[in-house]
Amino acid sequence: MDIPIKLDTSFLLALPISAYFFAINSQPYGFAGIEPTAVRYALSTLSAIFLFVSVLLHELAHSYLAKRYGANIDSITLLLFGGVASMEIPKKPEQEAKIAFAGPLMSLIIGFICLFTYNYVISSNSAFAQNSIYLIIWVLGSMNLLLGIFNLLPAFPMDGGRILRSFLARKMSYVKATHSAASIGKFIAILMAIFGIYAGDLWFLLIALYIYGSASNEDRFYSESGRSV
Ligand SMILES: [Zn+2]
Repeated sequence: MDIPIKLDTSFLLALPISAYFFAINSQPYGFAGIEPTAVRYALSTLSAIFLFVSVLLHELAHSYLAKRYGANIDSITLLLFGGVASMEIPKKPEQEAKIAFAGPLMSLIIGFICLFTYNYVISSNSAFAQNSIYLIIWVLGSMNLLLGIFNLLPAFPMDGGRILRSFLARKMSYVKATHSAASIGKFIAILMAIFGIYAGDLWFLLIALYIYGSASNEDRFYSESGRSV
């Protein structure tokens, strides 16, 4: 596949932020408590790099299927919050649903393979279990499962939002389906924001704002361009 892969400038922040996230969170989401500090940061940096390779594989899964359905793919861009594959939207809703599902499926498969390997190969072998480098497999497995599940949320810009829209688009026009899917996305964003405020979790609040903004953009884009595929 000859798809240009671009790095957004926000991606420059993404690596150190992810590495820091891995250094301060405990297992299975990070390496807090691993000593010495240099080893903790080395493991965190490696995990951040592998995480973005995972995000790239997620986007390639979308792109691969889209290409098989004959859609043109402009590029894959890696950003602060993950990746985006810019492509034509296929005219058939079932195809859009399958393309949207391919990414989370890839993340779930990587997640299960990593966790399976860690549980059945690494932790049962004492020679491996003592070396903290193998913890990367566990952390990566958990992150990929999270990535897969989170992307299945029925809210734009998550893939689940696109799957939802393609289901709605079988019964109504594309513009109406986008509007309904965007409204559901906004509703979920509001629930997440309330939870974020209640739990005092700034990340949840930021993600909620991001989802709300993306749902509004998606809705505006399709109603202004007047698409009625
Ligand atoms: Zn995706």
